[in-house]
Amino acid sequence: MMNDPMTDTAAHPLKLFNSLTRQMEEFSPVHTGEARVYTCGPTVYNYPHIGNMRAYVFADLLGRTLSWKGYKLTHVINITDVGHLTDDADDGEDKLEKMAAEKAESIWDIAKHYTEAYWQDIKALNIRQPAHWSIATDYVPAMIDYAKGIAEQHCYELESGLYFDVSTVANYGTLARASTDDGEGRIDTVEGKRNAADFAIWRKTPPGEKRQMEWDSPWGKGAPGWHLECSVMSEALLGLPFDIHTGGIDHREIHHPNEIAQNQAHSCSDHSGAKIWMHNNFLIDRTGKMSKSSGEFLRLQLLKYKGFHPHSYRLMCLQAHYRNELEFSWDALESAQIRLKRILAQVEKLTNRFGDERIDSKRLPSPRYQLRTAKLNANHPRLVEYLSRFDEALSEDLNTPEALPILEQLLKEKRLPLEEHIRTVRSMFFALGMGIRQRSDFRRKPRRAHITLVEI
Ligand code: AMP
Ligand code: ZN
Repeated sequence: MMNDPMTDTAAHPLKLFNSLTRQMEEFSPVHTGEARVYTCGPTVYNYPHIGNMRAYVFADLLGRTLSWKGYKLTHVINITDVGHLTDDADDGEDKLEKMAAEKAESIWDIAKHYTEAYWQDIKALNIRQPAHWSIATDYVPAMIDYAKGIAEQHCYELESGLYFDVSTVANYGTLARASTDDGEGRIDTVEGKRNAADFAIWRKTPPGEKRQMEWDSPWGKGAPGWHLECSVMSEALLGLPFDIHTGGIDHREIHHPNEIAQNQAHSCSDHSGAKIWMHNNFLIDRTGKMSKSSGEFLRLQLLKYKGFHPHSYRLMCLQAHYRNELEFSWDALESAQIRLKRILAQVEKLTNRFGDERIDSKRLPSPRYQLRTAKLNANHPRLVEYLSRFDEALSEDLNTPEALPILEQLLKEKRLPLEEHIRTVRSMFFALGMGIRQRSDFRRKPRRAHITLVEI
């Protein structure tokens, strides 16, 4: 039977920072006991860099926390294989078309190749599979219908396409704290736009040209504007309003305000579509924000090649609060790897005392690890206290920098009932998405030891 988190009075209420109100808010689901989350996924024209993967470690942490606290999670992550231009504000070329031309390959092959590469990184980082991977090109007919529904009242046609008039909805740009005529990124790049922030819903194929990806529409042959897909797919798969929408902080400026405008237009209301909008901050390096279009960037593969376990990068992300910038350096990654090995060595000590066969049990159903189950299993007052402190940290806007030391202290405890102790640790591992060690020798040679993990 599903737990009802609302009836667990001892649990700490989950508070999340809502970018829309710029305030911490208590999570109160649209549907009792459920959490519906939409995450803006990758544009698959290139490999994801480790900065991109920070966005999905964050979304995974959010999803795990919701599951851990007993909510029935429905998570959607989209794959953008059409429509994203080299400039978020309607300028430049379609990123996939550009890459396909450079590589002399079909767009479909490009999209397939980089989607698979992204999924490999998702797996390596122990990011759970969402309920739906929604692929943008699968939804083009739905996007055309959606656009037809809002065109008359909210859009106008120019030679280059169908544009959304942002002055037709209430409070455009609240999320970005920008008005219709100023603000970062609000550049008038297309001649004839009524407002600088107006954006393309449909991009017509220029006369005499043929695009690899184009569809017939009431506005001529062409392709959807990038912002349309997320409004269409989130509404189709989660219903409006849904609970939480996530993405990197760059989306707070253009992409998400535009999604909100479309949601308002389509639902004929002032509601933004999602109750809470959450944004992870950037992974940066000494030269600034890591970005795919800048050519040189770090991939998870390179980290692995240099001897780092993907979980060390995951831990590096968890060591920082998701709303803070995180600076990447090899030294910082090395420290995270050493910390991970220390944690796993403690787990090894604990499980060795218990007996290998029983603790090496394979993947167990996740409710075993939920907070409520862990509480039922933990009668010892010290364990109850540890769980409560850990819950409090995660419930405070996913404060992993505080939650991690609580797990580490718990691992060092000596005189707790062993089985309950291990169950409590496992429950925390589940929430953080850390693997349990299988077999290794890192107690003897912690720096050079090989890490092998079992996903839980
Ligand atoms: P893209 O594939 O470019 O659409 O980006 C995928 C996700 O990664 C989006 O949520 C971006 O906001 C996010 N993102 C891009 N660069 C970074 C970075 N350096 N650090 C953290 N997140 C990022
Ligand atoms: Zn999106």
